[in-house]
Amino acid sequence: MKVDILGVKFDNYTMDQAMNEVVQQLKKEKNAYKIYTPNPEIVMMANEHMDFMNILNRGDLVIPDGIGVVIGAKIMKKDIPERVAGYDLVQNILAEIADNKMTAYFLGSAKGIAEEAAHHMEKAYPGLKVMGTHDGYFDDQEEKHIIASIQSLQPDVLLVGLGAYRQEKWIDDHVEKLGVKVAIGVGGSLDGMAG
Ligand code: UDP
Repeated sequence: MKVDILGVKFDNYTMDQAMNEVVQQLKKEKNAYKIYTPNPEIVMMANEHMDFMNILNRGDLVIPDGIGVVIGAKIMKKDIPERVAGYDLVQNILAEIADNKMTAYFLGSAKGIAEEAAHHMEKAYPGLKVMGTHDGYFDDQEEKHIIASIQSLQPDVLLVGLGAYRQEKWIDDHVEKLGVKVAIGVGGSLDGMAG
């Protein structure tokens, strides 16, 4: 069930329920499942930019990142069971795909960060294969190259850390043609995984 918090429609899932959903989505042969984890600042931003609001509400799984959204939901007497931190959700997804010999691609953050994050995560989750990485500062020409690269590497999961709005728009614009099963907007999580 979706719960509306100032126009953004969240899934009222616990971490276990969110993971069950992701596991089901990863089993599908063809998919382009979009996961966003807006925090309160992002909910406010979406209220100022209707385009962004629409993009978020086209998300397949929308999880409240930040206790602020959960508290806001409680004040408004809406049912959000617990905070599901975006970072933890990403970690659980990486552990899941490592166990199932699935693959990932990391896009975003400053030069070298995604690559560093890939090394750390492959160590943390034996079996995980990060097929490719690219930083989050690219022009139109490089973007074409990134898209072609993802299409040929065929990763199951794509992490996109370009900061709010840009990353969700990027996923919304491109996910259908990329051939990935699941794409998730990760904000600054690649920085966390690298360091
Ligand atoms: N970033 C990027 N390309 C850009 C702008 C930002 O790769 O054009 C990266 C930046 O290096 C940082 C992340 O996006 O790693 C933004 O993280 P933040 O925590 O600010 O994300 P938000 O909360 O805005 O989603």
